[in-house]
Amino acid sequence: MSVPHTKTLVVVGGGAAGLFCAVNAARLAPSLSVVLLEKSNKLLSKVKISGGGRCNVTHACFDRDRLPGFYPRGTQFVKRYQHSFFTTDTIEWFAERKVKLKTETDGRMFPVTDSSQTIIDTLLQEATLHRVAIRLQTGVRAVEPQGDRLAVHTLNGESLFADYCCIACGGFSQPASFDFIRALGHTIEDPVPSLFTFNAPRHPIVSLQGVSVQEVSVKISGTKLVQTGPVLITHWGLSGPAVLKLSAYGARELAKKNYSFDIQVNWLAASGHTAVTLSSFFSEQRLLHPTQKISNGKLQGIPQRLWEFFLEQAAIVATRRWADLSRKEENQLIRLLTDMSMHIEGKTTFKEEFVTAGGIELSGIDAATMMSKLVPNLYFAGEIMNVDGVTGGFNFQHAWSSGMLAARSIAASL
Ligand SMILES: Cc1cc2nc3c(=O)[nH]c(=O)nc-3n(C[C@H](O)[C@H](O)[C@H](O)COP(=O)(O)OP(=O)(O)OC[C@H]3O[C@@H](n4cnc5c(N)ncnc54)[C@H](O)[C@@H]3O)c2cc1C
Repeated sequence: MSVPHTKTLVVVGGGAAGLFCAVNAARLAPSLSVVLLEKSNKLLSKVKISGGGRCNVTHACFDRDRLPGFYPRGTQFVKRYQHSFFTTDTIEWFAERKVKLKTETDGRMFPVTDSSQTIIDTLLQEATLHRVAIRLQTGVRAVEPQGDRLAVHTLNGESLFADYCCIACGGFSQPASFDFIRALGHTIEDPVPSLFTFNAPRHPIVSLQGVSVQEVSVKISGTKLVQTGPVLITHWGLSGPAVLKLSAYGARELAKKNYSFDIQVNWLAASGHTAVTLSSFFSEQRLLHPTQKISNGKLQGIPQRLWEFFLEQAAIVATRRWADLSRKEENQLIRLLTDMSMHIEGKTTFKEEFVTAGGIELSGIDAATMMSKLVPNLYFAGEIMNVDGVTGGFNFQHAWSSGMLAARSIAASL
């Protein structure tokens, strides 16, 4: 009597995308034998430290027209696959496993426990429930098509033969780390970092560390790259959502500049003031409040310490009154408020979340299934592909969606 051949899926990489693919493939196809190979001695290590240890699982973005725009690389790809596993599906998947998510005011979603361990425990329970075989300290050095199967060669010198393989190794910082994927015929977009803050340690503004402004427009000089949002002054430069978004959309361009570039900052983006409207506002102040000290008349939205900094930079003494504000001083103040130049020299990785831009070129991957267009039954999931999002849970959302799509496609083809 012939024994029915049990088909095997080998998942390479035990991060969010690999685990999600493995547990869902095993759940959807109970006859499938699922083996997960992880190079290190830990699973889900990034999930553990993500979101400051709270894990920003996804984003409360429920508009299909908007979600793809949060991915500086992969916008069109996300647009094609998002209907199959959207943010609402992530929320539901975790809710079905008794993990409730809460939404913060900026749209980030976290487990109500405020602990990334909740997410880890859930994924590991699913792995046990659906009998995913997990092998730690088993790095993969090559994947090779052999007939209609795939040989997965490990760094330990072992070869596993699989009917399906899903590569979910995350983002590599070195181009050479992608060699085993290039060997399969895929093209790689060179990796560069995304989601970093701007260093300007010698700029006097760093003395205001801790000061934040709610709506600031930051532009990379000489480019069209501009973002508006909250900015935080730190002891080494500028941070906050506007800066992080700019680092993501400008990841390639800023890498080319070796992170040495100039920015122009409009601290009054919220008020919509221009040089012309500010000038008439100052004329009005001269008329209406001639004896009031300028230092007591800060503009709306500008913290007092920042206002005093601008006055100091414009060489306006603290005792100066509106009536005595000269045209030259006024022009200087307007420039600092609406078009302040800063030289940026270097970057700092944002500790809450960082990601690699670059990876497997998307033209080689079918967005409906995550299957390679070059090697049958080879799948990809997560950050290894040239998809990355801005901060806020979009990177995990891509890991969940791509992992699920690969799992569903494998289960459906059995
Ligand atoms: C500090 C930090 C905080 C973050 N916080 C958030 C957040 O709150 N929200 C969010 O959306 N995103 C966050 N991110 C981004 C997010 O963590 C990643 O986008 C996501 O983890 C990618 O998942 P992945 O499974 O594709 O890759 P990874 O999580 O990197 O997992 C890949 C796994 O593959 C293994 N591996 C690599 N090569 C091999 C090999 N040859 N053989 C076998 N195994 C291999 C690695 O050891 C690793 O375990 C954060 C990132 C960092 C660094």
